[in-house]
Amino acid sequence: MARKFVRAVFPGSFDPITNGHLDVIERGIKLFDELIIAVGKSPIKNQLFTPQERVQMIEEIIRKRNISGVLVESFDGLTVEYAARKKADVILRGLRSLTDVQYEFQLAMTNRAVAGIETVFVMTSEKYGFTSSTLIREVALLGGDLSNLIPENVHNRLKKRLKKKK
Ligand code: ADP
Repeated sequence: MARKFVRAVFPGSFDPITNGHLDVIERGIKLFDELIIAVGKSPIKNQLFTPQERVQMIEEIIRKRNISGVLVESFDGLTVEYAARKKADVILRGLRSLTDVQYEFQLAMTNRAVAGIETVFVMTSEKYGFTSSTLIREVALLGGDLSNLIPENVHNRLKKRLKKKK
């Protein structure tokens, strides 16, 4: 019997994308036929890059690494409604630590209760277990070396953006 085509949505703020997110993406594409990286336009979070800039940075990386089966888009509103519009079968999320589990568990249960969609979790490589976009922004602001934690194009854009802000 032919296997069903499985499309996943990986939603997040990606402000900016980190090697931790990329680790999740690279694990995710082995599990699904198509992966949509969905950049959320959060009305609450204080954002450094516009959704367009975040999409652009991710696209550059996908192109450079020659990753296939991946699409990048921005969206606003509810993740589950976006996933339904895209006819996605599952939501992909990454886990770094037990601290993530509590929040992600609640989110996944809510999404299943309101839309019947399942969430698949992958654990990041232990190398990135402590990486978050928030910390990356803070370290960048203080001029720290982030070359092991974010791709080069993101590092360059961060430096430029923070120079403008000072
Ligand atoms: P959100 O604002 O929705 O949490 P993020 O961009 O912070 O968006 O994260 C998107 C997803 O990526 C979440 O599932 C988050 O747990 C996961 N994630 C973020 N950083 C890492 C990392 N270093 N390793 C693994 N997963 C990560």
